[in-house]
Amino acid sequence: MSSSEVDFFKLDSLLSDEERLIRQSVKTFVEERVNPIIIDCFEQGRFPHEIVPEMAELGLLGPTLPEEYGCAGVNSVSYGLIAQELEAGDSGLRSFVSVQSSLCMYPIYQFGSEEQRRKFLPDMAAGRKIGCFGLTEPNAGSNPSGMKTRARRVKDGWLLQGSKAWITNGTIADLAIVWAKDDEGVIRGFLVEKGTPGFRAPEVKHKLSLRASVTSELVFEDCLIPEENLLPQSGGLKSPLMCLTQARYGIAWGAVGAAISCFRSAVDYAKQRVQFDRPIAGFQLTQKKFAEMLTEISKAQLLCLRLGRMKDAGEMEPVHVSMAKMNNVAMALDVARTSRGILGGNGITGDYPIMRHMCNLESVYTYEGTHEVHTLALGKHITGLDAFS
Ligand SMILES: Cc1cc2nc3c(=O)[nH]c(=O)nc-3n(C[C@H](O)[C@H](O)[C@H](O)COP(=O)(O)OP(=O)(O)OC[C@H]3O[C@@H](n4cnc5c(N)ncnc54)[C@H](O)[C@@H]3O)c2cc1C
Repeated sequence: MSSSEVDFFKLDSLLSDEERLIRQSVKTFVEERVNPIIIDCFEQGRFPHEIVPEMAELGLLGPTLPEEYGCAGVNSVSYGLIAQELEAGDSGLRSFVSVQSSLCMYPIYQFGSEEQRRKFLPDMAAGRKIGCFGLTEPNAGSNPSGMKTRARRVKDGWLLQGSKAWITNGTIADLAIVWAKDDEGVIRGFLVEKGTPGFRAPEVKHKLSLRASVTSELVFEDCLIPEENLLPQSGGLKSPLMCLTQARYGIAWGAVGAAISCFRSAVDYAKQRVQFDRPIAGFQLTQKKFAEMLTEISKAQLLCLRLGRMKDAGEMEPVHVSMAKMNNVAMALDVARTSRGILGGNGITGDYPIMRHMCNLESVYTYEGTHEVHTLALGKHITGLDAFS
């Protein structure tokens, strides 16, 4: 088997021509435009801003939203394949697209007015405007309902006071979707535009994970938000959670891409690397690792495709996404760690993608609902008992 074709159960044959074409075009983009620069970006802690227009050109920003807003209007399986191929390059790149598409464009489409859709979505699809999503706070992570950010009604709109933590794209964003409690304690979504007085977004430094992605704090000090920047259809914790379901869906696919990249790299390396006068790929212990990794990757691929088809058929529930996100990210981390070991000392360098993926996946394991939170969501579904608190 060629390690470049990690499709043991021939899932390619279950894709439409359009889905295959989309997957191939993103794969080619990543090979040609991302792989040559990504280790430098990672080392420099730099998001490769210069490739955003190309991603927009390929239709990767808000890809499932309707064409009338400048988006590609593709199905959910295609979105999953996009996430998979981007994350085979780097989780930071996939994070950028997830946030832009699922956490910023989706809420504008889902909870916004027609005017807001027309004002923001075409620019965001074209990569002219970048978005971020502010839900997490320094003291409200796994329990977002404990948020302290407040939106107080005033004569001309809303006065926003509070802060958000760990916000992907924050410093580079032109607009932020910010979740805050109103005077009645109801969580509502607000569009906060860059340059609004009282709003700043300092970058988080010294990250050892997702270094090719921007992560920021958002601070709101009596920040006046005009009435037309309230997302009128948002209301309650359900609204941000609906966005997170969209993004987590993409993460479940994306993790498979990172795992495949590590697996490929390890197989290629093991076939070349000679110890005790034979390639290390010929040792039974190494082969056991490969057999187990391919098995886990194949199971995750099957899970993704089924999940995607269910989503397109309107049958997917958040708990399905919980299982796929939880399983696939843990699987990808295991594959990265095992692959790293197969490369021995070389595995810790940036000459191979594995250690970078491994560091990135530590964030992916935590964000968009930690592994434990998704475990509890499944536990609640199975038993009917809430073990969160
Ligand atoms: C790189 C990066 C990018 C991010 N991007 C964004 C973004 O764009 N927008 C945004 O809003 N947020 C973002 N986040 C925040 C992310 O969603 C949170 O980090 C995550 O929800 C966990 O919150 P926390 O870090 O406060 O951990 P905590 O909630 O404090 O959790 C710490 C540990 O306790 C465990 N734990 C918590 N509650 C329970 C429980 N009931 N039972 C068992 N275990 C429990 C957790 O599983 C975890 O292991 C990002 C985070 C990172 C690291």
